[in-house]
Amino acid sequence: MAKRDYYEVLGVDKSASKDEIKKAYRKLALKYHPDKNKGNKAAEEKFKEGSEAYHVLSDDKRKANYDQFGHAAFQGSGGQGGFGNFDFSSSFSDIFEDVFGDFGFGASAGSRRGRSNNRGSDLRYDISIDLNDAFTGTEKKINYTTYKKCKTCSGSGAKPGTKPSACSYCGGQGRVRSSQGFFTIQQTCPQCGGEGEKITSPCNKCNGMGKTQSSESVSVKIPKGVDDGTRIRLAGKGEAGNKGGANGDLYLFVSVEPHSIFKRSEESLYYELPISIADAALGTTVEVPSIDGGKTKIKIPSGTQSGKQLRLKGKGMPILKRNISGDLYIRIITEVPTSLTKKQKELLEEFKTLEDTKSNPLIKTFFDKAKKFWKN
Ligand SMILES: [Zn+2]
Ligand SMILES: [Zn+2]
Repeated sequence: MAKRDYYEVLGVDKSASKDEIKKAYRKLALKYHPDKNKGNKAAEEKFKEGSEAYHVLSDDKRKANYDQFGHAAFQGSGGQGGFGNFDFSSSFSDIFEDVFGDFGFGASAGSRRGRSNNRGSDLRYDISIDLNDAFTGTEKKINYTTYKKCKTCSGSGAKPGTKPSACSYCGGQGRVRSSQGFFTIQQTCPQCGGEGEKITSPCNKCNGMGKTQSSESVSVKIPKGVDDGTRIRLAGKGEAGNKGGANGDLYLFVSVEPHSIFKRSEESLYYELPISIADAALGTTVEVPSIDGGKTKIKIPSGTQSGKQLRLKGKGMPILKRNISGDLYIRIITEVPTSLTKKQKELLEEFKTLEDTKSNPLIKTFFDKAKKFWKN
């Protein structure tokens, strides 16, 4: 289904002010909120569609992008806030608070406490493998330094036997409210950073962080077919979160070293095979290398021209997560001898006297054309 225009979704026109946009979204959200429409898929979709539209149109920068490029502004790779992966659940509570303050449905508000802020960092590890490993798949052991949950305090950050006390500034709510005329505004508590509690006697081992530095080693299976730039995610192998928060992930960035013979383009492999002019003219069979380490016999027919390409089906790289392989392309290059023995020279001279225009049709055709050209 084509994506609807965000202005159309909210039922406002392009010149609508921030307040009008907010009002329109509020109306829509009240009508389609999942709490009021339990099990109603269509309402849920409308609600999400509206929230996404509001997420974009309520932000000056996003709105300007959208006005200029439409939905294309948020598509494609890597762009900021790409909407191919609009993270509904995490954006939503922000949207919701922005629009409703503490008017509404407690649903998402409370659950926000200490949310993803405590999640540990993701880690990146660069690993380099050769083409043979990429062909067969391999297993690598990697060693890295990370943070693990503190064993002394079990990640709480509080000295064993003590407990964090409720933040007195926000009364343990993690948020503070203030009134501005008609509106009530909620903010994250500046004292406890939204956690609602403070550690009064921090754990000695981790200084209240709930995590300690540690050296880890992990064995990673690298599947056959990986390409340069493949990313492998090891869920939960990143840093431990603060105060018992969830672990981050470890990302392995794989690079594949260039090979001395084979060049790769996705699942295809290539190389140039030099042959002598005698073999090219007379024809021959040659044993050539394939990436599995074996030899493949190929037939070079007589009269093979330089630049001719042969294809060996299935002799390329395996395709990731599929049980098929690409092809190997061999480009024939005829190597003209660069130094000749006396005998070779004599034979070639003799060969030259025997040359027949029939054996070199290209040369004949070209110079026939040239003669015609010079005449006119
Ligand atoms: Zn500790
Ligand atoms: Zn607080």
